[in-house]
Amino acid sequence: MNKKYVYAFSEGDGKNKQLLGGKGANLCEMTQIGLNVPAGFVISTEACLTYLADEQHRLPEGLIEEVHQQIATVEKNSGKGFGNADKPLLVSVRSGSAMSMPGMMDTILNLGLNNNTLPALIAETGNERFGYDAYRRFIQLFGKVALGVPDEKFDVHFEAVKKRSGVKADVGLTASDLKEISGLFLDVVKEHTGRPFPMDVYEQLEISIKAVFNSWMGKRAIDYRREFKITPDMANGTAVNIVEMVFGNMGDDCATGVGFTRNPGTGENLMFGEYLVNAQGEDVVAGIRTPKPVHHMGEEMPEMHSQLETLRSKLEAHYLEIQDFEYTIEKGILYCLQTRNGKMNAAAMVRTSVEMVKEGLINKEQALLRVDPELLEQLLHPRLMQNIKVQPLAQGLPASPGAASGHCVFDADRAEILGRSGEKVILVREETKPEDIHGFFASEGILTSRGGKTSHAAVVARGMGKPCVAGAEGISVDTQQRIAVVGEVTLKEGDFITIDGGTGDVYLGELPTEEPEFSDELKILLSWADDIAELKVMANADTPDAAQKAVEYGAMGIGLCRTERMFNATDRLPFMVNMILADTTEEREEALAKLRAMQRQDFKSLFKTMAPNPVTIRLLDPPIHEFLPTEKELEDDIDNLEQVRKDINGVAVLLSSLRLLRPEVKSNPENTVLPFNEEGKTLVDEAIAMKRHMLSKVRELFEVNPMLGHRGVRLSVTYPEIYEMQLQAVMEAEAECIKEGVSVHVEIMVPQVCTLQELKHVKRYVSATKERIEARNNLTLNFKFGTMIEVVRACMRAGHLAEEAEFFSFGTNDLTQATFSFSREDAENKFLPLYTEKNILHSNPFEVLDIKGVGQLMGLSVDWGRQTRPGMKIGICGEQGGHPESIRFCHHIKLNYVSCSAPRVPIARLAAAHAKLTESGYVVTERVQEVSS
Ligand code: PEP
Ligand code: MG
Repeated sequence: MNKKYVYAFSEGDGKNKQLLGGKGANLCEMTQIGLNVPAGFVISTEACLTYLADEQHRLPEGLIEEVHQQIATVEKNSGKGFGNADKPLLVSVRSGSAMSMPGMMDTILNLGLNNNTLPALIAETGNERFGYDAYRRFIQLFGKVALGVPDEKFDVHFEAVKKRSGVKADVGLTASDLKEISGLFLDVVKEHTGRPFPMDVYEQLEISIKAVFNSWMGKRAIDYRREFKITPDMANGTAVNIVEMVFGNMGDDCATGVGFTRNPGTGENLMFGEYLVNAQGEDVVAGIRTPKPVHHMGEEMPEMHSQLETLRSKLEAHYLEIQDFEYTIEKGILYCLQTRNGKMNAAAMVRTSVEMVKEGLINKEQALLRVDPELLEQLLHPRLMQNIKVQPLAQGLPASPGAASGHCVFDADRAEILGRSGEKVILVREETKPEDIHGFFASEGILTSRGGKTSHAAVVARGMGKPCVAGAEGISVDTQQRIAVVGEVTLKEGDFITIDGGTGDVYLGELPTEEPEFSDELKILLSWADDIAELKVMANADTPDAAQKAVEYGAMGIGLCRTERMFNATDRLPFMVNMILADTTEEREEALAKLRAMQRQDFKSLFKTMAPNPVTIRLLDPPIHEFLPTEKELEDDIDNLEQVRKDINGVAVLLSSLRLLRPEVKSNPENTVLPFNEEGKTLVDEAIAMKRHMLSKVRELFEVNPMLGHRGVRLSVTYPEIYEMQLQAVMEAEAECIKEGVSVHVEIMVPQVCTLQELKHVKRYVSATKERIEARNNLTLNFKFGTMIEVVRACMRAGHLAEEAEFFSFGTNDLTQATFSFSREDAENKFLPLYTEKNILHSNPFEVLDIKGVGQLMGLSVDWGRQTRPGMKIGICGEQGGHPESIRFCHHIKLNYVSCSAPRVPIARLAAAHAKLTESGYVVTERVQEVSS
């Protein structure tokens, strides 16, 4: 018996998206829950894969027979006949894979029309215009998709007839115009393919099924899957949906539209969408005619509007998710053609999550799991400064929020080239098509002069979280000339514009933007996340400003303060340099005293900002030569200064001769010339001497492998006074806070530790300083002493280190470097991209924690550390600490906290809740995968 490849809508398993594709599964599910769906069936993705695997691209055995049987059932149910010259059945042939890939694969409509069935359709509907309109659409779409005839070949004829008839919009064309166009189109196909257009309806169907299967391997689809990281286990092959055609273009009691059950831009609980009376679905999506917002239907077709509202409620109640649906009204009957989870931007996702909980549709756990943590990044997108008062150049529809500036570019290929070379570009088009997708990826934002909020440009941009202004009809785009004209203004390729996808405004030039603030809904959602998560989320923050930002993002403390960053400020660096260059202990102590005072102030301010939450101060880590210029810079400086000295001497000689000739020019007693007196010369000489001194220090400090060199705790052995200074500053700051009644929770952390002896060495300074400061201030300090675990040996000796260390923090940047022997400075620019491209590594280990290697070391260290010190506090502060997948692992090995850069804190908070929920058996729904793709 042959394998089953075809499923009627009444029998297919609505949950099996892998087999039936998202669209097919939903058509089955909608049919089975009693929604009014046109009759039809699905050919499985298995059939697609079998077909593609066959070298001769033959349809799998038995498939066509199954298709014939299903067509017979549809014929029976609809009372129509496929290829029948009395009551013809027309079908659509639609692609649909397990993951939504809007517009990336092919679809054919009105299939079943030919020279025999067309008159019957006309007779049946009594509408000749409608018949020829359907026919010409079918010939063009079939010609393009199934036979590879370029659109332009059809468009020339279409435009010529329109021009001759003096009509602007397609609706102005008469039946005889469309009849003529159909004839011309049939000729185009014959000319291009060398064969007449196929009139056999089953031949049409077979060719179309193959074309849809082939589109899975088309360039657009492949590019899309690569960009959105859609792997075969997420979607493998496309299904083909064969659905009885219903017509939205049979007259004024017909319409077609697309809708969202809630507003996908804002999340507002109002039906959102657009429709066109007397039109076919492709007109709405392709942006060929500008549609009307759905609330207009309330006045224009009130009964249909109320049926749509009922449909919206039924869809949400069943799917417990915002739906993006397509519908057609044929002579007063509403058909739902498709539904899928609506793609939304982050703001809408968050708002709908919170509101659906309040409405009792879903619970908090489901609400949290709906939102992909990475998606929150979108909420950090810049928007135009609120107080900007600039007249927009043009206005369109606010199709995807966020503001972006860039150079205008009028085609996707140019956008890709410029975008890749690092230019900021805005893709400006009349309307976009799926084949423009590569241009989207490369652009900061998208601007179109035609189409609505559900046009291709809008949907794709929203999915990508890129700003988009659509349907800015005041702009006329000329792709040939590479210009866009807006009234008096002509935008040329390369001109800078700014678009605001939140308002639909388009501006000339680059406007300043500002960070958005957290919405109340996001605060609520993240507070639910905090209630559920076991991991605490800390921030890596080094300055009081960064600490303030971290608090705003909800950080529960500072998990890593890299104290060296405090020395890099321009007003501090000279003291650090003086300290390094000091020849005598007195000189060094003088410089250190200045640094201590500054650090004390910084620490105090960090402690106060974060109080009562913990602040982990890490003692100096980088090699100290990093505070000095490079050898090359110093050599160049010295060369330049010597040249200056020569020039000064030359001018001095010149002025000196001048003095001989012109005795009135005064000279100084040493016979040098006044304008270039001793002081001027001394400054240059002094500068040269200082640079030479630095140069010799730089040469002395030179290391072949600085990342494996004289850094971290090793500095405490060679320059103990630096760590002493820092310890003193931390403890003095703590003492001052205690005196001021501020509740502080200080942790002192040592970097690069690999032996217990190193920790004991630092601990001696810690104890001595503590005693001194406690005695001086007559109080008790209360801090924790701990270590970074970022050296492989430290992992192996974690049980011993825990004798001295009260906490561990995994420095997974260095630990990854050490585990792979990949330089963290170079690997990412050199070979790592190729490693991931060639699948040698599944991801960049400096971004996503390498669970199998680095993670294994971490797991062992946690076990050994806690064997020595039960309940020991352990966290991570490497970059991977802000990455959701890594956070799940950190939860799994029972770390207490993750620490990441402040803007990643909200993402980490949500990811920490996800980690707990998925561990407890909650399943991350397809919604999450879909949005994260
Ligand atoms: C680390 O190594 O992971 C770490 C946090 O320290 P740094 O990046 O400062 O070396
Ligand atoms: Mg480190």
